[in-house]
Formats: sequence, structure tokens, C-alpha cells
Amino acid sequence: MTDRRKVCVLGATGSVGRATCELLAEAPDRFEATALTGNGNATAMIELARLVQPKFVAMADPSAAATVCEALAATAIEVGTGKEAVMAAAEMPADWCMAAIVGAAGLAPTLAAVRQGATVALANKESLVCAGHLFTEATKASGGCLLPVDSEHNAIFQVFDFERPEGIERIILTASGGPFRTWTREEMARATRADALKHPNWDMGAKITIDSATMFNKGLELIEASHLFPVEPAQIEIIVHPQSIVHSMVDYRDGSMLAQMGLPDMRTPIAVTLYWPERGAFGPERLDLSKIGTLTFEPPDEQRFPALRLAREALSLGGTAPAMLNAANEVAVNAFLAEQIGFLDIAYIVEACLDGLPVVPLSDLEGVWSADKAARQHARNTIMLRT
Ligand code: NAD
Ligand code: MG
Repeated sequence: MTDRRKVCVLGATGSVGRATCELLAEAPDRFEATALTGNGNATAMIELARLVQPKFVAMADPSAAATVCEALAATAIEVGTGKEAVMAAAEMPADWCMAAIVGAAGLAPTLAAVRQGATVALANKESLVCAGHLFTEATKASGGCLLPVDSEHNAIFQVFDFERPEGIERIILTASGGPFRTWTREEMARATRADALKHPNWDMGAKITIDSATMFNKGLELIEASHLFPVEPAQIEIIVHPQSIVHSMVDYRDGSMLAQMGLPDMRTPIAVTLYWPERGAFGPERLDLSKIGTLTFEPPDEQRFPALRLAREALSLGGTAPAMLNAANEVAVNAFLAEQIGFLDIAYIVEACLDGLPVVPLSDLEGVWSADKAARQHARNTIMLRT
């Protein structure tokens, strides 16, 4: 078992992280877990650590770390505490690293994994949104590689001809449209937390589920795609596809459109990155198109979902604008989840932040942190004025 690939899972206790650990546990002859990281969910980490037997476990939250440490005392697994331990986990030599921490908290550990030259399976889209150029440059410098886990980008990655990008006319990201696809603005104004957390197709963490309802998720994905694929922002389009079976498409200049299809199950894109360029032999239930019957598509509605327009604006402004959009959105989503603001306030708060703060060029993570901090403060002020 000497040639097992060394793997690390950042954000192991989340929705993507857990699915990753389950895939690893199915092939112990292929993979050896170096480290798992989590935040406050000790119960989940104890279970996952027993499942994949990593060498090291890091919990960002100290009290959760203490609980995990006690539960794993009789094992050979070492347990670390705090942000520093999460960074240490990301820095442990690994061949493959799943970056599945949610939000801007994932940037520094993901960058550490990139810098040590690992193949980084990127679920933390915020890394590319906030600091895309820093990540792509660090990947080149370390000789590592970034494989997209986000289902749309993973789909495009599978059908994009990287050898001949000049043959590509545009890429098309599909969007489910979320739970409010057919709702009016008046109905959305009254949407509750529970309404927004009911995603029609995907079972995901709370933050990305709310982002799907506002369509900020698709906006973030638009920015993410601009860093992953050699196309101009104007060549990235969005189409609403409520069944979430076609995960995205590449439209070639000769009129061929290549799409990747699959069930809405994150285990498939995760497995693509885990086994790439091979194909893993396991999988969830098979896609049976005769059972699905109908696939439908419709244009996105930027009037009802201003997040799409705001993300395009942030992308064209460049510099710190996408990091500010992301930070203001994180604060607004948390306030909505805490039932402090209404659903439509989320986009309002983000727009106020983009309008109210200067955009500056970005050259390092410090620049991201200062933009992130200013945007969070701006968003909190806007929330105070509205409540
Ligand atoms: P989640 O909320 O289920 O899990 C988040 C993980 O991050 C947990 O392990 C948590 O402990 C960890 N974490 C949170 N805050 C932290 C902090 N301050 N320090 C260290 N760790 C911290 O989220 P998720 O749905 O699994 O999403 C993870 C990432 O993957 C996000 O960037 C999301 O946009 C992306 N993504 C998720 C899906 C999906 O289906 N869930 C699909 C595409 C992309
Ligand atoms: Mg996605």
C-alpha cells in the first residue's frame, strides 16, 4: 500500500467535505488521509476521523477541538486547535487536497495547499472570487493544479478543449433558479428563512443554499469561471435549467455544443477530481434520462435576481470589487439566516457596498483582507440603518 495518494480534506465536516470522506472510505487501498479540518462540529469530526483514519485533525473552534481530542485519545490521530492548526493541516505534504471550507475563511488554507504543489480540488469558490489571480499565479509557481469541484465548472472542465480554446465561442453555466425561480419580487420580499433553505434539487450547506435562492451563487460562479477558463467575461453566459441534469456546456464556433450531464449529486464532480484523469468505478444511482423525461431551459431574469448584474459589475470593475461583493454577501446572508433582514435586503446590502466603497487593485492577500474588512463593516452599517 506504499503508492496510496496522500489526501487532505479542508472543511471535512461540511456537505462537500463529508461526501469526499465517504468516497475516500470506499477506496482505502487508493487513498491515505493526512489531515481533516473542521470548525465547531465535534460530533461530525469524530465520526469522520474514525471513518478515514487521518494522521491529523484540526478544529478551528477550541472547545470543539477539546471534545474531539478527548474522543480520539485512544487512537493515533493527533488533534490540533485553532486557525493555526487548520493552516498546518493545509501545509502537510499531500498529493490531493479538497478545499471545502465555506466562505472567505477558506482562502488562506486553500492558498497554502496550492503553494505546496498539491492537486487542489476546489469547492471553495470564494478563493477564486476574492483573489483569482493570486490563486492562478500561485498554482503556476508551485507546479500544482486546480481542479474545479463546483458542478458547473467541473462540467465545463470535462468538455473544454484547453488545447484549442480559440475554437470556443462561449461557455454556458446552468442555474437551477433556486426555490424562488417563479416567485415575484413581492413574494420574495416576504420569503422566510425556511422558504429560502428549501432548495429544489441540491442538498448543500446553508450559505450556498441561500446564495442559490438569491442567485448570488451563480454570480460568484460567473467570476469563478472567468479565472478557470481562458475566455472573456462576455463569453460566459447563464441559463436557467430547473432540473439540474445538464451541469453546464461549452459552445464551439462550428455550432457543436458539448454538455456534461449527471444527477444533482456532488459525489460525481468530487470523484472526477479525485480520480482525474482516470474515472472512479463507483458512483451514485445512475442517470436515467427516460425517467427524467423533460429537460427545460429559460433565460435568467436579472430584474428579479439583481445578484447576477452585481456580480458582472464586480467582475468588470476587477481589483477588490469581487472580494467586497463576496464579503458583503456573507454578512447579509448571515443576517438573513439570523432573521434580522428580509430576503431582498441581501442584494440591496451588497449593491450599497459596491456603490459606497472605492475599488483598488489587488496584489496580495493583505489587499483581500482589507477589502473584506471594509465591506463587512459597510454591510453591517447598512443592516443597522435598515433594522
Ligand atoms: P458547509 O457549510 O456544509 O461546510 C463548510 C465547512 O467549512 C465545514 O467543514 C466547516 O467546519 C468549515 N468551516 C466553516 N467556517 C470555518 C472557519 N472559520 N474555519 C475553518 N473551517 C470553517 O458548506 P458546503 O456546502 O460543504 O460548501 C463548502 C464550499 O463548497 C463552499 O465554498 C461552497 O460554495 C462550495 N460548494 C458547495 C456545494 C455543495 O453542494 N454543498 C456545491 C458547489 C460548491
Ligand atoms: Mg455550482
